[in-house]
Amino acid sequence: MLTRTTTVGTGNPADVAAPSGTGRRATHRLSAPGTDDSVAVAIRDLNAYYGSFHAVGDVAFDVPKNEITALIGPSGCGKSTVLRCINRMNDLVPGARIEGTIQYRGQNLNARKVDAVEVRRRIGMVFQKPNPFPKSIYENVVWGAKINGIKGNYDELVERCLRQAALWDEVKDKLKESGLALSGGQQQRLCIARAIATNPDVILMDEPASALDPISTLKIEELMRELERQYTIVIVTHNMQQAARVSDQTVFFSLGEKRMGVLVEASPTRELFTNPRDQRTEDYITGRFG
Ligand code: ADP
Repeated sequence: MLTRTTTVGTGNPADVAAPSGTGRRATHRLSAPGTDDSVAVAIRDLNAYYGSFHAVGDVAFDVPKNEITALIGPSGCGKSTVLRCINRMNDLVPGARIEGTIQYRGQNLNARKVDAVEVRRRIGMVFQKPNPFPKSIYENVVWGAKINGIKGNYDELVERCLRQAALWDEVKDKLKESGLALSGGQQQRLCIARAIATNPDVILMDEPASALDPISTLKIEELMRELERQYTIVIVTHNMQQAARVSDQTVFFSLGEKRMGVLVEASPTRELFTNPRDQRTEDYITGRFG
């Protein structure tokens, strides 16, 4: 349970129509949140504000379980904001406020009773710039487990998480060395190992490879493909080729009136890149705008 007290929220049973735009097929139907077992997170009517600025308007999409969902779109259209809303990280931004529901395991994560710290344990995050702590590789991995009160055999936990993050073979003989001594790509995999150590269901990744060289980027992409067997992944990427290579579903955002971010289309990745529903998607993926 995510609450300290009781479970809340069952969500609205109303279907949601996607924004019509100039689409060829104007709408797609979303099921009532909480009714589809294959959905990990159901986002409905999400609006995000920074002070008086309406940054994201009426966003609705489903994040399927054990799949990779990529959020793409031009800079400033709200991709990172939406990502941060999924684990209540946006609560930490001064002046930020959100409306709408984010349904996860039968609860609206936005409900007041929900414990944001517990949400972030279940829905972990990996940032753009690798940010290991100035501690040993070992301590980096067990940190999340320790602060969440997870007990058990930490040696086993470290090995399991580093293996899952495809880093074990490279670091098994230097676990006591600083995480900061690793290469950028290794540091990012260490951060993924640290995120896994709290036993999450969902991992959010905000441009996890944009600071890395092409070989490290490829490793992260391969790793994501491995991880989706066990976890649900949502990735923000400014790199369309990466979205096309790695994701199962792609959600395209664009800028609406007054620079408000709007969702244009959420589709299976192959479909979005070969047969987009909306003219704005087509313009973006063919490089005519963005
Ligand atoms: P993207 O990830 O698509 O580049 P962001 O989610 O970072 O977009 O930003 C969406 C909009 O919200 C932008 O106009 C951005 O300037 C604004 N924004 C983001 N973070 C903040 C913040 N902390 N304070 C004020 N405005 C912000």
